[in-house]
Amino acid sequence: MTDFEGLKALVTGGASGIGRATAELLAERGAQVAVLDLDPSCVEKPLLGFRADVTDDTSVRAAVAGAAEALGGLDVLVNNAGIGAQGTVEDNDDDEWRRVFDVNVLGMVRTARAALPHLRRSAHAAIVNTCSIAATAGLPQRALYSATKGAVHSLTLAMAADHIREGVRVNCVNPGTADTPWIGRLLDRASDPAAERAALEARQPAGRLVSAAEVAGAIAYLASPLSGATTGTSLAVDGGMQGLRLRPV
Ligand code: NAD
Repeated sequence: MTDFEGLKALVTGGASGIGRATAELLAERGAQVAVLDLDPSCVEKPLLGFRADVTDDTSVRAAVAGAAEALGGLDVLVNNAGIGAQGTVEDNDDDEWRRVFDVNVLGMVRTARAALPHLRRSAHAAIVNTCSIAATAGLPQRALYSATKGAVHSLTLAMAADHIREGVRVNCVNPGTADTPWIGRLLDRASDPAAERAALEARQPAGRLVSAAEVAGAIAYLASPLSGATTGTSLAVDGGMQGLRLRPV
């Protein structure tokens, strides 16, 4: 399969988890791929890496310009960098709300702003935002995180409308609980991580977590010319959680 032959893609948060799996999948399928990440390991080969913080507009602009120059343009932006937050509205103060919105929402705005001039020149331009089932599920103990992903959902729709006549498609994926280092860090905080993992898996519709590769597959579809008539949509990659009307955990 060579759906990405000749296409140039930039993946944010590409050093770990869903972003890394996406960068690797796009590269395997023929794309030229650059990753942008806060983690310095992102500059390790084989992927072309740019160390940048999505909360810093200057570093985002430099990384996007560097990626476009190195690749000879940009066709695909995968807006994936994000961080978590636990608790109710009483648990996080204003600074924490600003910090998480700065990464999860403004981070995507900054990369899109820097990438759009390059994407407009592409014949197959696509932006895929990593959203979450948290955007619409009403998860307990996730007020701040859910609000950021609700904003990503709205942003996806608004951007799809703004850029459709410029040939830039904008969609998002909504992962359920995906088995990435992020979930590993959460489980490590439990007194018995193995038991906590087993309990988490047992609560999933299929008795297992979603894999990073499965989320990457959905992102790749929305990024590829195979989905050329699809814009302003969200694709659930949640192991049946929302479709089966089950309560995510
Ligand atoms: P992860 O922690 O494994 O990877 C996130 C990556 O983003 C890391 O490499 C990190 O360095 C990078 N990053 C964080 N802050 C950054 C910043 N300020 N600038 C640049 N890079 C930054 O997590 P993951 O599970 O792969 O999550 C990726 C995306 O998927 C996030 O947007 C997350 O909200 C979303 N998501 C994850 C799950 C899940 O269960 N894992 C579920 C739904 C949505």
